[in-house]
Amino acid sequence: MAKKIILAETAGVCFGVERALRKSFEVMEGSKEEVHSLGPIIHNPQVVKRLEERGVKVAEKLEDTSSGTVIIRAHGVPVGTVGTAKDRGLNVVDLTCPIVKKLQYAVKKLAEEGSFTVIVGDKKHPEIIGARSYGDPEKMIIIENKSEIGEEVFTKKKVGIVAQTTIAFEQFREVVDEFLARSTEEIKIFNTICDDIFNKQREAIELAKSVDVMVVIGGKNSSNTTKIAKLCHEVNPNTYQIETVSEIRSLGLNLNEKTIGVTAGASTPSWIIEEMLQGIQEI
Ligand code: SF4
Repeated sequence: MAKKIILAETAGVCFGVERALRKSFEVMEGSKEEVHSLGPIIHNPQVVKRLEERGVKVAEKLEDTSSGTVIIRAHGVPVGTVGTAKDRGLNVVDLTCPIVKKLQYAVKKLAEEGSFTVIVGDKKHPEIIGARSYGDPEKMIIIENKSEIGEEVFTKKKVGIVAQTTIAFEQFREVVDEFLARSTEEIKIFNTICDDIFNKQREAIELAKSVDVMVVIGGKNSSNTTKIAKLCHEVNPNTYQIETVSEIRSLGLNLNEKTIGVTAGASTPSWIIEEMLQGIQEI
């Protein structure tokens, strides 16, 4: 049995995900027609399954829906998607997180000002697929680190830098520092990293440093959870990203007399955290 289990104060759902989940259940309860979410509402398979049991079906694209309500998830969607959905006669419930909207507006503003836009993040992530569409594709790069910046970008006179909301602050700062060191005439920096994520990462790193084993709960397809697990792993190699209790049991960990740190990504609801705490106690 574990000696002590310490749960991070910042573990679990952020306000953007909490809002998306609460409103999705409300929509489902008040609807007599079909309800679809455009992509899974959050990157957590257990929660998506629960929503599906309540009747919220996942549509990968608008063309997969023909009537009823479509929910836009917290990650947001590309420009024009809401209009297209309305044109198709769908009732649209837009649950794009306000912090993601801030990123979208920053990209739009930079394009309107004629700045070259640098987005630091994952170009395949839905949030970035949506946000990039607010800018000028001819005057934009999407990079994960400074080594991906082409030399010609440093010759641009006006550059604006924004971040995917869930990346690590250090990842963003590394790119910003590179631009500050390299002679661009005007550099605008929009720190669009989500405070919730920033605080989760900071607390998780400190907790991971102080415990024998660190458990990060959340979907393997969740960008923010995976990032937290990676940061924890850098300071504590005994870090495990876990989705379910059965998964942690199957690892065969020896937790006897160990201190266990636990945190959870922004898309991990409290019932999953509680199940996991119970499961760890029983190992
Ligand atoms: S992690 Fe931050 S940006 Fe993403 S949904 Fe939650 S509150 Fe919004």
